[in-house]
Amino acid sequence: MGTVPGIDCDLVVRGGTVATAGGSAECDVAITDGRISQLGGSPRGRRELDAGGALVLPGGLDMHVHLSSPEPPEPGEPAWVDDFGSGSAAAIAGGVTTIGNMTFPADGDTLHHSLDRDLTAARALAGVDYVLHPVLIDPTPEALAELPQLAAEGHTSLKLFMVAGEFEAQADAMIEAVRIAGQHGMLTLMHCEDGALVRFAGEQLRQAGRGGLGNWAASRPVPAERAAVDRAVAICEATGSPVYIVHLSSEQALRAARRGRSRGLPVYVETRPLYLHLTSQALAEPQGAKYIGAPPLREPSDVAALWAGLADGSVHALGSDHAPWMLRDKLDESQDVTTARQGVADLETMLPMLFSAGVLTGRLSLARFISLTATNPARLFGLYPRKGTIAVGSDADLVVLDPQLRRTVDGSVMQSRAGYSAYDGHEVRGWPRFTVSRGEVALEDGQVLARPGRGQWLPRERTAAL
Ligand SMILES: [Zn+2]
Repeated sequence: MGTVPGIDCDLVVRGGTVATAGGSAECDVAITDGRISQLGGSPRGRRELDAGGALVLPGGLDMHVHLSSPEPPEPGEPAWVDDFGSGSAAAIAGGVTTIGNMTFPADGDTLHHSLDRDLTAARALAGVDYVLHPVLIDPTPEALAELPQLAAEGHTSLKLFMVAGEFEAQADAMIEAVRIAGQHGMLTLMHCEDGALVRFAGEQLRQAGRGGLGNWAASRPVPAERAAVDRAVAICEATGSPVYIVHLSSEQALRAARRGRSRGLPVYVETRPLYLHLTSQALAEPQGAKYIGAPPLREPSDVAALWAGLADGSVHALGSDHAPWMLRDKLDESQDVTTARQGVADLETMLPMLFSAGVLTGRLSLARFISLTATNPARLFGLYPRKGTIAVGSDADLVVLDPQLRRTVDGSVMQSRAGYSAYDGHEVRGWPRFTVSRGEVALEDGQVLARPGRGQWLPRERTAAL
C-alpha cells in the first residue's frame, strides 16, 4: 500500500462484533495487502464496509466439496453440476472462503496427475482459496510411494472410501497408506460405511422387490456405518495416524468415535449439515430422492445426538459434502438403491442454517459455531493461523453475518447450478451481508463479485491435533 495521508489501510470493516473461537468484542478490522493489519483503534481505510449490527466472523472453511469429476461423463450421462466457478460462487454467497475438494483419479491415473488436472481447472475458475484432497482408490506400491512427496508439496490430506469394493480387496495396502500418511503429517479422511454390509442390504432389498429409491435409508443401515467407524478407530490405533471421519450420520457411529477419543486417539469427526436439519422421513416424501446422500438421513434420535456432539465438542467440523445434481437426475426412476445419485448442494446454506438452527436457538454457542466452521478445520488441515481465525497477520477472510437478515431458502435463485436446495422453503435467519476473501470484497448486496481464477491453491503444513 502506498502512503496516503490519513489513510492507514486498504479496507476497514467498521462497527461489527468481531468474534473468534476464543471470544468476541466490538472492534474495527483493518486490512492491508489481503491480510488483517490491525484490530481495534480507529483505522481509516481507502474503503470501508459497514458491519454495524452484524457479526464479523472468520470466513468459513468447507473442507468437503465435490467440484470436479475425474473425466467428463458419457454424452447424456449426468454428473455433478458445479465446477470450481459456480461452486466458489455458492461458497461466497454462503460465507465460505476456503474449500477442500475431493480429487478423484481417472482410471490408472497417478495421484499427482489427478491433482494437476484439478489444479488446472481450479486455477482458471476458483473464486475462493482451495486445497485438494487426493482420493486413493487403488493403493498400488507406486501410489503409496507418492504420499511422502505429496505431503512435502503441501498436500497434507488423503481420502479413502471404506465403502468401495477396492478398500476391502486391498485392505492391507489401505492400512499401510494410512500409516504412511500419518507419518508424513497427513490427515486421512475416511468415508465410513462397511461396503459388504451396504451391498448386502441393497441386494436384499432388490430381491424383495424393494430396490426403489424410496428405500434409500434401509439400504444403508446404521450397523454398516458403526462397524466402519469402529474399524477406522482401530486403524488409527494400529497405525498411530490421525483419521478424520467424514459425514458421520448416526448416534451409534458417534459413540464409536467417542470411544476412540476417550482412549486418547486422534480420531476426528465431521458431520454433514443435512443430518442436522432433516430425518429419514424426508426420504419417504414423493420426491424424497432429492435428499439422497450416503450415509442416508437418519432418525430424530440421531439428529439430537449430532446436535449434542456439536455442542460438546465430540463433532469437530462441518463439511457440506456439496455434490449437486439436477433435480430430474436425482429423481430418475431408472435408478435404484444400488445406483442412486448421491449428494446435494449445500455450500451456500451450510453456515446460515447452522447459525439459524444452532446459534439463534441457543443450541450452540457462537464460539462453537466458529470452531466447527472455521478454526477446527483450519487446524486439522494445516491452514491455521493463516485461515480459520481473525488475528493480525492472518488472511483477511471474513464473513459479515447479519443476524437480522431473513430469507426463505429457494434453490432456484441460488448460485449452485443444481437449481434446487434440499432446504427449499426453510426460513433461515442470519446471512452474509459481506464476504471478504484475502481483503477483496467478494459478496456485497447479495451479489457475488469475485473474479473466477482469483482463488489460490493453499500449500499446507502438517495436520495439527485438536
Ligand atoms: Zn463427499
